[in-house]
Amino acid sequence: MRIVVLAGGIGGARFLRGLKKAVPDAEITVIGNTGDDIHLFGLRVCPDLDTVMYTLGGGINEEQGWGRTDETFHLKEELAAYGVGPDWFGLGDRDFATHVVRTQMLGAGYPLSAVTEALCDRWQPGVRLIPMTDDRVETHVAVTLPPDGTDGTGVTEGTEGPGGRSAAGGEQRAVHFQEYWVRLRASVPAHAVVPVGADRAKPAPGVLEAIAEADTVLFPPSNPVVSIGTILAVPGIREAIADAGVPVVGLSPIVGGSPVRGMADKVLAAVGVESTAAAVAEHYGSGLLDGWLVDTVDAAAVERVTAAGIRCRAVPLMMTDVDATARMAGEALALADEVRA
Ligand code: GDP
Ligand code: CA
Repeated sequence: MRIVVLAGGIGGARFLRGLKKAVPDAEITVIGNTGDDIHLFGLRVCPDLDTVMYTLGGGINEEQGWGRTDETFHLKEELAAYGVGPDWFGLGDRDFATHVVRTQMLGAGYPLSAVTEALCDRWQPGVRLIPMTDDRVETHVAVTLPPDGTDGTGVTEGTEGPGGRSAAGGEQRAVHFQEYWVRLRASVPAHAVVPVGADRAKPAPGVLEAIAEADTVLFPPSNPVVSIGTILAVPGIREAIADAGVPVVGLSPIVGGSPVRGMADKVLAAVGVESTAAAVAEHYGSGLLDGWLVDTVDAAAVERVTAAGIRCRAVPLMMTDVDATARMAGEALALADEVRA
């Protein structure tokens, strides 16, 4: 059985752990989001790829969900002592090594897909992990910053984009997704989410091939806008999935009207989608999605999703442990079989 999974960070990685347990013999290809990538201290950091790699490879900080286990922060402290920031992005010493190796290989001319494969040689995640693209894509968020800088961070620089004054007096600007998510904690109004560079990006080698050869495509409980949405924004990927002629089944990251963790509701609002399990299914649409799982607390949404032309079931969707997650993966594959039949 060949399964393709589009994945962001924590939600995607945890789901994959359950999927591996549910179908140990399946050949799993993970297409990872790189829109969250950021350059820090001269290093290329790929948070979502690394979260998948560390989680499946046994190196993740379990409580936190990202970063390395048994981590120390000497390098960060030394940089701070030099007054060198940013200080809002947590990079530990062990984690730094990954970014040094990645950046060194990229500098030597290897594409990100080859670098990711090399890093996975160490971690043996048990899946084939491919970045969505080898080209640079950076998710930016259009926000309104308070006029008096009261975002509480004392830092005001954005990454790019024309600044300007809004009618309300706040400053409009586009900031890097990590600045919006980590530094501002999604606390300022967001008006748009733009995967800068996606329109010119090409799927990384192996992405379209994996989709064409897949028996099933799964959307795990990942962020529908800044994780799965960004992957789908790379020209060719959405079309390949829609045209593959195999079941495409997703699991809702929204349970009972809010994200299970994180702030997906904020970016959903920015693209005009309400934070409900049904609205996220409709956002993907029946042209892409054949099946959708909602949590049992959202059983009332089944009717609306079905009316949108998407086969839907309500099952427990909380990834409380690997066994519960494996049952979710099993339900998703059962729904895929139902679609196939
Ligand atoms: P990120 O890159 O770390 O933000 O991770 P993802 O793109 O994978 O998105 C995480 C999404 O997964 C969030 O929207 C959460 O609401 C959702 N999520 C996290 N844990 C669970 C869970 O146990 N069950 C469900 N249904 N969704 C979850
Ligand atoms: Ca992410």
